[in-house]
Amino acid sequence: MSGDDDLGVRRVGIMGGTFDPIHHGHLVAASEVADNYALDEVVFVPTGQPWQKDAREVSPAEDRYLMTVIATASNPRFHVSRVDIDREGPTYTVDTLRDIRAMYGPKTQLFFITGADALARILSWKDTDQMFELAHFVAVTRPGFHLSDEHLPADAVSMIQVPAMAISSTDCRTRVAAGKPVWYLVPDGVVQYIAKRHLYRA
Ligand code: ATP
Ligand code: MG
Repeated sequence: MSGDDDLGVRRVGIMGGTFDPIHHGHLVAASEVADNYALDEVVFVPTGQPWQKDAREVSPAEDRYLMTVIATASNPRFHVSRVDIDREGPTYTVDTLRDIRAMYGPKTQLFFITGADALARILSWKDTDQMFELAHFVAVTRPGFHLSDEHLPADAVSMIQVPAMAISSTDCRTRVAAGKPVWYLVPDGVVQYIAKRHLYRA
């Protein structure tokens, strides 16, 4: 159908993450939120390279970006943005939201998709009021899990339960380092990209 833009407000999901590597938990979460909130598209935003030496090395931004592109390429509603990896300095969610808002313009409703663990961290930062003005927050949790936080503004944050929550990037990296398979935890193309680039080898 043409003329999508004439129908009014565009609903855009934003899924930020390190994506080191992107896995099916991320993709299921984005797909479930897109379905539940009738999103027109979801933009995956890999984080910038940490400038401090972290507890562990994060893979190069270009590798994480390409894995995210490979994983989302077949879905016409999934896109990948370079805003965070092309911005200098550490990634703050408020900057991500401002940049995406600037790209899409005021006639767009933004939904920031995040795991409940990451949400707790984001809300401990400054600028939360601005973040809530820029986007509605959707926290994904595993079935049966309840985020108990009294100072969560109910109108700014929604909860949604998704399957496949047990998959994590940490576990995928540990598996590759141990020579164990990551088939079916991450998309096939990502398995092949990890092997080609020798990522996560011990
Ligand atoms: P790591 O193990 O390195 O922390 P991760 O698997 O949590 O990696 P991130 O790139 O840190 O992946 O996560 C990006 C976003 O996706 C965060 O909001 C996180 O909470 C969420 N997320 C991570 N894993 C899942 C999952 N299995 N299901 C739903 N959301 C997830
Ligand atoms: Mg994480």
